[in-house]
Amino acid sequence: MRLVVDLNRCQGYAQCAFLAPNVFELHGEEALLYDAAPAETDHERVWQATAACPVQAITTDDGPYESSFANPEVQ
Ligand code: SF4
Repeated sequence: MRLVVDLNRCQGYAQCAFLAPNVFELHGEEALLYDAAPAETDHERVWQATAACPVQAITTDDGPYESSFANPEVQ
C-alpha cells in the first residue's frame, strides 16, 4: 500500500491519528506525520481513516475507496 495525505487539504481534525495511531501522528495543531508505506497489519485501520477524514485528504493505491493513483489525470 502506498499512502498520500494532501497536507494542503488536511485540517488537522486528527480522525486518522485516532483510528490508525501507528500510521498517522499529529504534532501540534496542524503538522501531520504519516507512514507512506504502512504495514499490512495497519491497512484496515488506514481504510477506516481514509473514510473518516472529513476533507478526504487521505489517498491510498488500494482498498475499498476511490484512489487518485487509479486516475490517469492525477498521475
Ligand atoms: S483526518 Fe484528515 S483532516 Fe484530519 S488530520 Fe487526518 S488527514 Fe488531516
